Amino acid sequence: MKELLDSVVEEFRDIWRNGRVATYIPELARACPDAVGLAVCDLGSGLYTAGDWNYPFTMQSVSKIVSLALALTVCGEDAVFSSVGMDPLADPFNSIMRLEMDAPHRPHNPLINSGAIVVLSLLPWTESSERVTAVSDLAARMAGKPSVSMNSAVYISEKETSDRNRALAWFLKSVGNLHGDIEDILDAYFRQCSLETNCADLAVMGATLAADGRNPITEEQVLTPRVARVVRTIMATCGMYDGSGEFAVSAGIPAKSGVGGGIAAAVPGMMGIGTCGPALDSRGNSVAGLAMMKKLSEVLNLRIY
Ligand code: GLN
Repeated sequence: MKELLDSVVEEFRDIWRNGRVATYIPELARACPDAVGLAVCDLGSGLYTAGDWNYPFTMQSVSKIVSLALALTVCGEDAVFSSVGMDPLADPFNSIMRLEMDAPHRPHNPLINSGAIVVLSLLPWTESSERVTAVSDLAARMAGKPSVSMNSAVYISEKETSDRNRALAWFLKSVGNLHGDIEDILDAYFRQCSLETNCADLAVMGATLAADGRNPITEEQVLTPRVARVVRTIMATCGMYDGSGEFAVSAGIPAKSGVGGGIAAAVPGMMGIGTCGPALDSRGNSVAGLAMMKKLSEVLNLRIY
């Protein structure tokens, strides 16, 4: 496995040139565009890493699978899916268009920005710090680490340039679909997006989902099998935003991307995969990550469809 991962990283070392690091959150523009990391957490034989596997980046939208798992656990499936849908969307992750056009103005799924903001609002804590502590504790247990830290520079940068996310939240409030203190909910959203990770962590998080909620490294049952299954399913249908259909055909595995450059994938009963590559395509998905996921899926026959 280690040799395979090394050869995949080698093959796609330069593909980052086809993408660009995110700049709409200014701090993200400081990422190394040419970092390429790959990790697999096999449910039987453990963790394998290659390339820049310990290059640190922020979870960004990968954190949305954690907050979704938390809300499903704490609030239940009915409460979550009466507030957000479970359908893919062919628009960018921060688009407001469909939210306004489609009554009852409910976010289409929990993995786009509006959906993740609603999911956070459902959590039964009133302070943003309490919500984020619960999300980061769960992220740590899924990754098999004592704790997960937050990148303050990215948090401040995101908060200062958050007009679009604010617009989504205030629109939701105006139609009666977001309850609670908006500033507080948004603050929790910016903080969870700024949680720091690397592709090895993402591989273990993916493996926990792949193993029906049981972390294969710590052997802790972190999520119920049902919650793990629902999260995997939403990843498969909505995890790569408006690139979800194309990714389902090309790689065929449940995965979630973030504009920090990470992708976490969960291959049911087999493994978790984490990739790192801060240069993104026009949809906000990591160019190197997409290529490496697709390659591993082909070579290891991981396709679930
Ligand atoms: N923090 C980012 C945002 O709100 C998350 C988006 C992403 O990773 N696709 O825009």
